[in-house]
Amino acid sequence: MARINAIAPAIVILGTGALDTARRIQARYPDAQVHGLAGRAEADVAYSELSAHLRDLYARGTPLVALCAAGIVIRCIAPLLSDKGAEPPVLAVAEDGSAVVPLLGGLAGVNTMAREIAEALKVAPAITTSGELRFGTCVLNPPDGYALSSLAQGKRFVSDLLAGESTRIEGAAPWLDDAQLPRSTAARRAIRVTPEAWDGRVDELLIHPRSVVAAVSTLDERVAERVREALDANGIAALSLAALLAPIQRAGDEALTEAADTLGVPLRFVSTPAAADAREPLSLLEAAMRVPHDIRAGASPVALALARAPVDPASIGQARGRLTVIGLGPGDAHLMVPAARSALNAATDILGYETYVTMAGPFRADQRVHGTDNREEMQRARHAFELAAMGRSVVMVSSGDPGVFAMAAAVLEALHESDNARWAGVELEILPGVSAAMATAAQAGAPLGHDFCMLSLSDNLKPWEVIENRLRHAAQADLVMAFYNPVSRARPWQLDKALDIIREFRIPSTTVVLGRNVGRPGGQVIYTSLGELRGEMVDMRTMVIIGSSHTRAFSVDGKTEWVYTPRWYR
Ligand code: SAH
Repeated sequence: MARINAIAPAIVILGTGALDTARRIQARYPDAQVHGLAGRAEADVAYSELSAHLRDLYARGTPLVALCAAGIVIRCIAPLLSDKGAEPPVLAVAEDGSAVVPLLGGLAGVNTMAREIAEALKVAPAITTSGELRFGTCVLNPPDGYALSSLAQGKRFVSDLLAGESTRIEGAAPWLDDAQLPRSTAARRAIRVTPEAWDGRVDELLIHPRSVVAAVSTLDERVAERVREALDANGIAALSLAALLAPIQRAGDEALTEAADTLGVPLRFVSTPAAADAREPLSLLEAAMRVPHDIRAGASPVALALARAPVDPASIGQARGRLTVIGLGPGDAHLMVPAARSALNAATDILGYETYVTMAGPFRADQRVHGTDNREEMQRARHAFELAAMGRSVVMVSSGDPGVFAMAAAVLEALHESDNARWAGVELEILPGVSAAMATAAQAGAPLGHDFCMLSLSDNLKPWEVIENRLRHAAQADLVMAFYNPVSRARPWQLDKALDIIREFRIPSTTVVLGRNVGRPGGQVIYTSLGELRGEMVDMRTMVIIGSSHTRAFSVDGKTEWVYTPRWYR
């Protein structure tokens, strides 16, 4: 069963020697990213200083798997240890994968993680927790699909057992079948597994199966409150809730998203048969529940279904679909924003122009790649919405920044033109990227240091006269210019024509920077001048930056050349 609301661990390495072990651990947690020390290890995320990085991750509650000496990890985290309450799992793993040492986060499942990682690395985990050693399991850390009712109550219970008490088990606790618990049917203590709320008995360890689904139809803002009232009224513990279910028509409703967050459960949607009334929550449960269950609180606005065992939220209806439009940056993985990498990791479907999709990979076997040579961008954008409306997590890939002569505008145009309510319910996000002009400028220095404009010289989607007119105005305004799509096989003469126009306004010594395949293998930056620039120096993978009258170049030590446009103007 999928972990609910689990944060993906950060796998932290110091050098290339640990990369192989890190990737083996990553295969066990596909959402996890490998963090490598910049300059020492190429990984998914670069960091510059180990202790600051570990502390930052820890403070954000990220489970940590550090491939280095346990002592190093302890020293780094030590200043943050006084607050025992919010403790994510922290493990030290030997670089060669020969030892797995859980250090912190006993109640956040560190021993479970240690076992999972040890299994992936084919070694034995170094478990040191006494209850866990004695009973072969952490009684206070039930598996996914179950929740401990009260930690304080649980701690008392375990110390009683360690002191010699025995226990009964009431209800279904299959994960305890192999545990070496001191069991006795006559015991005063009991481990009770039930969706029912605590009834005040102190001799019990109460564990709730997440077996209840709440369907809501209310348009009321107070959704979470209504659900809690229904649970209370039926004597059901809030922790037994597995999912919140709503009609698909309301997928875009923020009040529902907030309610699910407040209740700490996934939000699922279902479309009811046309005949059923979508406003009637019972019909939602009927349409979505695939396992035997009893109905409680059938009346509007909340209906509850109680299953006999934990319910996997993924098996109920569909998620709110997601479409994330990302930019890969110019090509180098280090120049992709971490949010884009996370979106790719979480994606079920990846779409985009073949070359870019290949650049964004490799992908896992469970991810569907819809790479296409199809240049029809509107069609691709519509395809993305169709997939997302089915509840999938779609990522649309562009190079550079997705909003600069790329897919983000096509995606928005598709949405704007559509009256499909399912598309409107899709969670749409556009993540920025490093555009070719920025990547080229950074390598050259700071040619965009003052006012500049970005122009596409492609007349595929706009008339050439418009381009000429804009060039003339930009040249006259003395703006630095960044040309995208400067030439292509089908557009051989346009760049030379554009340069002719600019030469009417700028002198031949005007600084020009060409960035070719920047951030990609064989990438180069060429410095030239307006007078020397010829169309044949440029291809379709080149960024052309034409300086203003103030843009200048200089070299230090006779080798490194820098180009910049000063921040002032006179
Ligand atoms: N969205 C992209 C631009 C797409 S238009 C971005 O923000 O960068 C395609 C044009 O971008 C190409 O014709 C070329 O002019 C430029 N370009 C894209 N990637 C480049 C790279 N790595 N190096 C140089 N120019 C690049």
